[in-house]
Amino acid sequence: MDKETTCDRCFKPVSELSEFDDGRKLNKTYRAMYEGPAIDEYEQILSEYISEAHPGEIWEDNINELEAKYGHEKVDKAFFYDQLSSTVGSSWECINCIDK
Ligand SMILES: [Zn+2]
Repeated sequence: MDKETTCDRCFKPVSELSEFDDGRKLNKTYRAMYEGPAIDEYEQILSEYISEAHPGEIWEDNINELEAKYGHEKVDKAFFYDQLSSTVGSSWECINCIDK
């Protein structure tokens, strides 16, 4: 038996879901990979990050300084958090979840 389609957000099977006005049970929306509350500590690290291009396409940033100040792991996580927050993917959601 095929696995029943579920809402991407609450994972309820379509048979348990209410219909939208158009009769469908799931509609497509877009969401950031991370949409939890802003994490102040990571926001702080990101706000202190500086990356500049110099002549000859040499990029200079202050990542070493940040790692010295906050530790490698935290800086790593801050960038991961930034990446997830700015990556948007499609999501099929039920009437209870969409637009929330
Ligand atoms: Zn749902």
